[in-house]
Amino acid sequence: MSKDGRAGARSKELFAAASKVIPGGVNSPVRAFKSVGGEPPFIRKATGCHVITEDGAALVDYVGSWGPALLGHAHPEVVDAVCRAARDGLSFGAATAAEVDFAELICSLVPSLRGGMVRLVSSGTEATMSALRLARGYTGRSKIIKCEGGYHGHADMLLVAAGSGAATLGIPGSAGVPGEAVRDTLLVPYNDAEAVAARFAEHPGEIAAIIVEPVAGNMGCVPPRPGYLERLRSLCTEHGAVLIFDEVMTGFRVALGGAQERFGITPDLTCLGKIVGGGMPVGAYGGRREIMEKIAPLGPVYQAGTLSGNPLSVAAGLKTLELLERDKPHAAIEAATTKLCAGLAESAAAAGVAWTGTQVGSMFSGFFCTGEVWNYVDAQGSDLERFARWHGEMLARGVYLAPSQFEAGFMSAAHDEAAIEQTLTAAAEVFALLAAAG
Ligand SMILES: *Cc1c(COP(=O)(O)O)cnc(C)c1O
Repeated sequence: MSKDGRAGARSKELFAAASKVIPGGVNSPVRAFKSVGGEPPFIRKATGCHVITEDGAALVDYVGSWGPALLGHAHPEVVDAVCRAARDGLSFGAATAAEVDFAELICSLVPSLRGGMVRLVSSGTEATMSALRLARGYTGRSKIIKCEGGYHGHADMLLVAAGSGAATLGIPGSAGVPGEAVRDTLLVPYNDAEAVAARFAEHPGEIAAIIVEPVAGNMGCVPPRPGYLERLRSLCTEHGAVLIFDEVMTGFRVALGGAQERFGITPDLTCLGKIVGGGMPVGAYGGRREIMEKIAPLGPVYQAGTLSGNPLSVAAGLKTLELLERDKPHAAIEAATTKLCAGLAESAAAAGVAWTGTQVGSMFSGFFCTGEVWNYVDAQGSDLERFARWHGEMLARGVYLAPSQFEAGFMSAAHDEAAIEQTLTAAAEVFALLAAAG
């Protein structure tokens, strides 16, 4: 099989056809490769740590469907569980036994949900917008705080200085979002707890919640500074605001119990997505019982979903979490990621390319800049032209990285020595090219 992952004749033909009937040819904006140039390869299938393109190339995949594929693609036991569930019917819109098992397992694994409750939805976006509605309903307050470069899905109130695709395309706010929808959204830089303290001082008794990625992943991977999450916790407690960890990306990834387990900080509410669905569309939000009891039908905060907890999604998510609990792959995946990141840093240094690597568990990024990266402004200091060249040349050598500087890389349990070696060999060549290009 070829290793050149750049769009070939078949992908180009498909992209042309797609562009006639789907805006931009894609169903989610970053997939269009706009910020790195070129056209996207279409993916035919995926297995283990590889995606196979429609042009017949096998690529080492660090996108992992943007996070869900922690066990590698098409894990046989997950696929079996989904197939078995499918034979019993695709959706009932009614209570099932498996969703009880799933909710119990989620509540046992995620520290802030122990003794609490969880509600299933169908995407990360739904999880964050529902958690914020709940926080507002519970506190009776309107204002919320989010970080510049933080991405929490595409609900109106959160499309201010948003990361991920919004950052990639330079539209961190969005047309179609009325001023009133974001009037109560207050912004702070990531990793700046004193800015949060200042917002509380400016708006006493008005702030319902802080929503934060405990490890930022949508401005590239940016770790929390020591003490940052602790300070957010104490500020929320002091001011009676709800601390919401958006663990849609970090949940079950940076530790089995997510970032809250890794850093030992317990939020009031937690949003989940990506890995929790094992590759199927699932989101979840949960936390303290006293807050969760405000959700309908127990309480006055409305939230619903026709396909919420549907049997296929639950089967994929439940099996994935069971395998993570049984096989305990986290330490090995993290060690592999550390090895990869060390190799990348070494090879950038050898070539004389300015490169700032970041890593938390199996999330990682590399920014083309000299200084440290602790927030969105730092991340924007990366040389994006260099990034685009790096991305295309790595793709040509069989390495599929997210087509944006403002996305994290993801390692999986299926990435073996050979995959890492291939990546590091390609990287050494590409760093040399970048250095020669100046
Ligand atoms: C991906 C992501 C979301 C949005 O999830 P969707 O399933 O794409 O709606 C929200 N928050 C974070 C931190 C994410 O990484």
